[in-house]
Amino acid sequence: MNDCLFCKIVRREIPATLVYEDEQIAAFNDVKPQAPTHVLIVPKRHIDSLNKLSIEEDSLIGALVRRASAIAAERGLSEGGYRTVFNTNRDAGQTVFHIHLHLLGGRAMGWPPG
Ligand code: AMP
Ligand code: ZN
Repeated sequence: MNDCLFCKIVRREIPATLVYEDEQIAAFNDVKPQAPTHVLIVPKRHIDSLNKLSIEEDSLIGALVRRASAIAAERGLSEGGYRTVFNTNRDAGQTVFHIHLHLLGGRAMGWPPG
């Protein structure tokens, strides 16, 4: 057991609005959405960040990315577009150190990001 916020969500110790779950991954609504769709897709197994990935996680990360695409498709976002983001460490503003893929969509977004 650990104190990680997203591990606690995966274990149902903290409530979240789950939008997808399978053996490997879970997806839930961001508590402070930055777009009409703002879903976080996480591996159930704890990994701190992209900095901690090894080759064994290639298929897991592929599953996260493909799930983001599937959720976007379910919501009619594929054609109009959406953004997928992994924040890593301080300069990117990572606040939860359990790797998560942000799926943001439903509005036009600027580039470069802030
Ligand atoms: P990051 O800044 O990339 O580490 O993103 C962490 C995200 O987790 C932020 O967008 C937060 O709004 C979100 N967040 C924090 N606590 C919760 C929670 N209890 N349930 C859902 N999302 C959360
Ligand atoms: Zn965790």
